[in-house]
Amino acid sequence: MIRRSDFLLVFMLLMLFVSPSLFGGVNSMTKAIVSQGELKLFFAEPLEQQKIKHFTLPNPHRQVYDFIDTRLAHNRVPLGLGNHIRIAQNNATTVRVVIESRSPFKPIAYQPLFAKTAYHISLPKNSTHIHKGSSLAQQAYAKPQAQKTTSRRHTELIVIDPGHGGHDSGAIAGGKKEKELVLAISKKVEKQLKKRGYPVYLTRESDRFLKLDERTRIADRKDAKVFISIHANSIDKSKQDKMEGIETFFLQNTRDERAKRIAARENEAVLKGTDHVSKHVIIDSVLSGPKIVESNKLAIDIHKRMIANAKTLYRDVKDGGVRHAPFYVLVGASRPSVLIEVGYISHPKERQRLFTTEYQNILAKGIAEGIENYLFNRRKEIDF
Ligand SMILES: [Zn+2]
Repeated sequence: MIRRSDFLLVFMLLMLFVSPSLFGGVNSMTKAIVSQGELKLFFAEPLEQQKIKHFTLPNPHRQVYDFIDTRLAHNRVPLGLGNHIRIAQNNATTVRVVIESRSPFKPIAYQPLFAKTAYHISLPKNSTHIHKGSSLAQQAYAKPQAQKTTSRRHTELIVIDPGHGGHDSGAIAGGKKEKELVLAISKKVEKQLKKRGYPVYLTRESDRFLKLDERTRIADRKDAKVFISIHANSIDKSKQDKMEGIETFFLQNTRDERAKRIAARENEAVLKGTDHVSKHVIIDSVLSGPKIVESNKLAIDIHKRMIANAKTLYRDVKDGGVRHAPFYVLVGASRPSVLIEVGYISHPKERQRLFTTEYQNILAKGIAEGIENYLFNRRKEIDF
């Protein structure tokens, strides 16, 4: 039997645990960290865009982000942010984040696609560089990175994403399937990277289907440094003898018709079986996509080494170049990400090469060398 007063008490206790949005939408900021050149903010509740106000102040240059109807979850000052970042309860209902910089800069601020309770703001480069006269906090931040280059065992996790899988075969030509080819090459890339001392994670190790968000969420959850999606290209019969070669893509919108066509084909496959991803959200994320510059560098490094290696085996390998296109699979990953089209399985000669172990090994070696070059150069650049 339940008495009326008991019922009330239970009701009140329950309300304490229910979403605070029931009471005028008060959110709370629970954590702030600096990683990979970004300030990452975490909240108890999903963020609403209209409750984030951004403006700048001069002398010194400051980027100000006000989070309306938000409270700091606790009074502890987040450590390790450096003295150029300040987070405070500005008034009873607003949390203010201030990022100071030596010169004006345009931050990229975004919500990671599958993390609605997070908000990332890119930091100015000089905030993560070691500068003469920089704060102790900044130096403490940068020091361990410098030592990392000398060690043979690396800590930078690399996520390799073999495209398609399960009921989604990807392209099919001459009885050969894209999903099988890209899994074989991905496993060889894994081997090559492990040999070089890198931890590697494959989004799939068998012939199974992964939903779009599963692929990129793995990279986010594992805090990967780079995300590499591996695919093979295909074109209809009328052009099968004309189109061949290796192409490397990074995420950005494009006017290039050829890049658009390839993205459309891969996107169609990846969106099959996605039930809750709104196309609209995806397109928005593409346009405000983070890490474009870094992804471009990564694509160039990988592509260079792939072509150089492939040519040691076949001098006539076609270089399709580095391109950009709106690939959905790259959208959710908030880290440098590229998509590789290792070749056209619709092209009879290239298909034959692609399905030999020798050629797969040489492509895998090229990809691994490219990733290693990128990470090596990157370590010299910024906090990583
Ligand atoms: Zn594909």
